[in-house]
Amino acid sequence: MKSRRNFLQKLTLSAVSLPLIPGLKSSSFPGWQKSVFQDRMLRVAIMGLGSYGTRVAEAMQDSKKAKLVGVISGTPSKISAWQEKYNIPSKNCYNYENFDAIKDNPDIDAVYIITPNALHHPQTLRVAAARKHVICEKPMALNAEQGREMVEACKNAGVQLLVGYRMHFEANTLEVIRMREAGEFGEIKFFQGLSGFKIGDPSQWRLNKELAGGGAMMDIGIYSINGARYMIGKEPIWVTAQETKTDPVKFKEGVDETILFQFGFPEGIVASCLSTYSMGNLDRFFLNGTQGFAEMQPSTGYGPIKGKTHKGPLDNPHITHQTVQMDRMAEIILEGETAKVPVDGEEGLKDLIIIDTIYKAVASGRKEPIQLG
Ligand code: NAD
Repeated sequence: MKSRRNFLQKLTLSAVSLPLIPGLKSSSFPGWQKSVFQDRMLRVAIMGLGSYGTRVAEAMQDSKKAKLVGVISGTPSKISAWQEKYNIPSKNCYNYENFDAIKDNPDIDAVYIITPNALHHPQTLRVAAARKHVICEKPMALNAEQGREMVEACKNAGVQLLVGYRMHFEANTLEVIRMREAGEFGEIKFFQGLSGFKIGDPSQWRLNKELAGGGAMMDIGIYSINGARYMIGKEPIWVTAQETKTDPVKFKEGVDETILFQFGFPEGIVASCLSTYSMGNLDRFFLNGTQGFAEMQPSTGYGPIKGKTHKGPLDNPHITHQTVQMDRMAEIILEGETAKVPVDGEEGLKDLIIIDTIYKAVASGRKEPIQLG
């Protein structure tokens, strides 16, 4: 893992990196013994002031390292309400037509995209072109092809692309990962992930193929995909999948209601997962090894995350996930830290490749190889 010191050493050697950090002058750089960024807050603009954007904004109030300084919205009344609530200056407010001008705003470091799934790809390309760091909600895009373009665009623009995988910073989740790495479960053999909820309003964008890119899999099944990977600590090599639909009116063509899927991993490890929009409060992970187990329920909700292992309860204190996430993401962007479980565009892309392959397996009825490379 890249340490903060290594990053700062690299920075001193690389003047190329300096212009990417607004406000940083090389003359004020005191050397790599001391972080020049230690008092810097990541200045974030939220794009999409909906229900999750609202949650992230509230949580950012308690962040020590990230600060909400701007908004991008198509609704003027929301902009003025947020301006008042969060003391946001008018010069940091944009709409979906004019936000490319953010490139000339030195007071915004990053844009957090929290809009419907289909907008993540075009909006990321525009934010990257404006040379601002991108934090993008999951699923990162509608498919792997879009995901690759996003990774490439951010790389070419010299900005970071992070995905809102808040569970990658959650304390009980990280404890299970620590135990697995320490061999406390023995050899890992099996993971089960159950992810679902009962979706309401049939007119919402989550049930519109154009905006959502699919159904439950894009929205909630992705937690079991991602969870299988970080709980087992390996990448899946094949998948089989079966779809069931009880309500073809609500869940139209291309909008999946329920998909069961099974992964094969190296060394014969297997996983069995369920993604659904028609079962309430389905939020459970189970990891089994030759010497122990971990079970978490709820496993990916907003918390507190609860669970136990063969050694006893998982009892790390609950901290609002999005607050921790924003602190850690600020450290990644400003200080060159790396996440224990990655949250970068490559990580988001892996989930998209897997989702594409799950849909392929549903259509073919066959075991499909997963090619993450
Ligand atoms: P939402 O419907 O509550 O908010 C979406 C926002 O986007 C609204 O403010 C809406 O006005 C705006 N918008 C802009 N263009 C739009 C368009 N063409 N059509 C519809 N809305 C448009 O949705 P949400 O629950 O906030 O979800 C937004 C994103 O956040 C999704 O990608 C979702 O998967 C993700 N999300 C992540 C988590 C998490 O825990 N990481 C939780 C919830 C949602």
